Amino acid sequence: MPSATEPWRSLAVCGGTPSFREPLHVGRPNQGERRRFLTRVNDILDRRWLTNDGVYVREFEAAIADLHSVRHCVATSSGTVGLELAVRATGMRGEVILPSFTFIATAHAVAWQGLVPVFCDIEPIGHHIDPALVERLVTHKTGGVIGVHIWGRPCDAVALEALCQRRGLPLVFDAAHALGCSLDQRMIGGFGDCEVLSFHATKVLNTLEGGAVLTNNDELAGRLRLMRNFGFRGLDDVGHMGTNGKMNEVAAAMGLTVLEDLERILAVNRANDECYRAGLGGVPGLGFLPFEANERRNHQYIVVLVRPEAALIRDELMAVLHAENVLARRYFYPGCHRMEPYVSATKRRTDLLPITDEVARQVLLLPTGTAVSTDDIGRICEIVRLALDTAHKVRSCLVAGDKE
Ligand SMILES: *Cc1c(COP(=O)(O)O)cnc(C)c1O
Repeated sequence: MPSATEPWRSLAVCGGTPSFREPLHVGRPNQGERRRFLTRVNDILDRRWLTNDGVYVREFEAAIADLHSVRHCVATSSGTVGLELAVRATGMRGEVILPSFTFIATAHAVAWQGLVPVFCDIEPIGHHIDPALVERLVTHKTGGVIGVHIWGRPCDAVALEALCQRRGLPLVFDAAHALGCSLDQRMIGGFGDCEVLSFHATKVLNTLEGGAVLTNNDELAGRLRLMRNFGFRGLDDVGHMGTNGKMNEVAAAMGLTVLEDLERILAVNRANDECYRAGLGGVPGLGFLPFEANERRNHQYIVVLVRPEAALIRDELMAVLHAENVLARRYFYPGCHRMEPYVSATKRRTDLLPITDEVARQVLLLPTGTAVSTDDIGRICEIVRLALDTAHKVRSCLVAGDKE
């Protein structure tokens, strides 16, 4: 029973009942209208055209290109395969500069091609790769740059474009978090040589698994299409090195179905974001991402920074939430440079990413998406406030729990 004098006892870490019976996830899939999806799947089976540039893949590609105002969308079997194709098709070689504060796939896509990832630090406000630091890392060995737009906001793509143009370097963006975002009235998708989306189940728009490479470069788009399909340019005619990176028809059907629901999904995410900011704004030690007037965001993630001055450290707060069945996550922790194979390969560099290390200790992602209600969010904010207000007691509950 919650008590006025000992309110912390209502917290699950201190023996209370968990606030949620079902776990709340950071990225519960947005599914769209099931009947519309199943109608499309039936149609696919009736046509017996399951993959290889079918009608649904072509319709999905056209819709995604339109949404991002780009000439070409090349749909792929995953975002990671899209990145691999982009790295190869843009002719990257040698060392490729990218942030360490990203999902591991960005680094793997480089290393998988036999190239060497060189990790660059981030700026502390939006957690994006810092173009001034990229400039300092460029050497005669540098053969490409990958910028990553994270948290549903654009990185400084304009500065990276200027730098890469000046240096004659291929530039790819990992836009897995940036569907529908824009910077200075320019849609994401048109920056650099190409940009790569992910439609993984946890992303704002999913195709079960899937991805896409967006570009305004006709020649590059042609090469990507060849490489996506074993290099086939016609029947029995292979004209290029390639792999199997094709999106299938059922995936595209899912994508089209969720796309019909996208406005609502984005509105829910925006409302959830506002609800969290209202519920946690002004709590000492907690920070939120900034708003910039020149950008459009998709509010895909709720990122809370648990600063050193907060009453609990990030991992303590996460433990409190997990006990309540709120599956808060520390994304990109501890950073690619601290995971294999990169930690061994770049040992001498691991002390050179101080902002990445600091941010990776502070970031906590809270549940959002269409599966989370504003009542849920109100309850989550109450838990966070109570835990921080009674941090002393909560810490002893956590220590006692560890000893059990
Ligand atoms: C999800 C994600 C990827 C990988 O996409 P998949 O579709 O899962 O292969 C790459 N980079 C970032 C930043 C991501 O969040």
